[in-house]
Amino acid sequence: MILVTGGAGYIGSHANKELTRTGYETVVLDNMSYGHPDFLKWGVFEEVDLGDLESIRNVFRKYEIEAVMHFAAFTYVGESVEDPQKYYLNNLRNTLNLLQVMNEFEVRKLVFSSTCATYGNPQKIPLTEDHPQNPINPYGQGKLMVEKVLKDYSSAYGLRYVSLRYFNAAGADPEGEVGERHEPETHLIPLILDAAMGKREDIKIFGTDYPTTDGTCIRDYIHVTDLADAHIKALKYLEDGGESEVFNLGNGNGFSVREVIEEARKVTGKEIKATETERRPGDPPVLVGSSEKARKILKWQPKYDDLTKIISTAWEWHKKDA
Ligand code: UDP
Repeated sequence: MILVTGGAGYIGSHANKELTRTGYETVVLDNMSYGHPDFLKWGVFEEVDLGDLESIRNVFRKYEIEAVMHFAAFTYVGESVEDPQKYYLNNLRNTLNLLQVMNEFEVRKLVFSSTCATYGNPQKIPLTEDHPQNPINPYGQGKLMVEKVLKDYSSAYGLRYVSLRYFNAAGADPEGEVGERHEPETHLIPLILDAAMGKREDIKIFGTDYPTTDGTCIRDYIHVTDLADAHIKALKYLEDGGESEVFNLGNGNGFSVREVIEEARKVTGKEIKATETERRPGDPPVLVGSSEKARKILKWQPKYDDLTKIISTAWEWHKKDA
C-alpha cells in the first residue's frame, strides 16, 4: 500500500485519487488540522499526527507500506515568518519522525512535496533544479532542510526519494470530487473566484511596480491534477529502481496577476473588481520554472497547460463548493 500523508489536503487528496485510479491501494494519514473530511474519498484513513512517533509506527505495523508520498505540511509563507517554530516542528521535525519510522520498517521509497520557495530570489529565469537554493522564509528553509536530510539518508540508509519542487499549484479535479479549499484562503485564483461569486468585494493586486511587463508579479501556475500525475510517475520511477532525484513541476509559462484576473473574467463572465495595493513582502517579481528534467526523465507532460483550463476547473469546483 502507498502511505499518503496529508491526503485530506489540497494536493494530497488529488494524488490520492490519482493513485487509486491507477490501481494502487492507499492509506491516508492526516491529523485533520487543515484537512477536509469530505476529501477522504479513496483508500483507508488513519487520523494520526506525525508528531507522535508511536502512532506512526502503529500505521506501519497495521499496513504493508511499500512507499510513502509525504504531503503533510503547513504552507502559509507569511505565518512561517511570524511563527517559525510552528513550521520547523511540523514540516521538519515531523518529517524526521516519518523518516525514522520508514527506516525502522525498511520502507525505502519516498515522494516528497518540495517547493520553488527553496530557491529564494531567482538569479535566472526559468529556474532549473541546479539553481542555488537560498530560501527567504522559514517555510522554504524547512523544505530545503528536508531535502538535505533526504540526501544524507539516501546515502546512508539506502532510502530512494524524489523531491518535487512545485510552482504555483492551482485548479481542481476536473470531475469535481476534490478541489482547493484553504482556511484562511490566501491564494490568488480562489480569491479572484470569491470576488467573481460576490463573496468578496474585490481582488487586491499586491504591487503594480514590479519590473515586469505590466508591473505585477509573474507566476508559473500548474494544475493540481498534473501535479498528482507527476507523483505517480515519480513513484513508478522509484519502483523501477530510479536513483534519488529532484524535479521542478511547473508549466514553464509565466502569467502576471493582471493576466490571471483577466482570464478569470473571461472564464466566469463576471466583472471582478481589482484594486491595486501595496506589494506583499517576500514576493519575488518572477517565478517561472523549467520542468524539462521531469518531462525527460519522468516522461511527465502537463495536460492543463494553459490558464483557461486551470481557471475553468477551479471555477467549476468553486461554484460547487460555495
Ligand atoms: N496575489 C495578489 N493578490 C492576492 C493574492 C496573491 O496579487 O490577494 C499575488 C501574489 O503577490 C503573487 C501571486 O498573486 O504574486 C500568487 O500568489 P499566491 O499567494 O497565490 O501564491 P505564491 O506565489 O505566494 O505561492
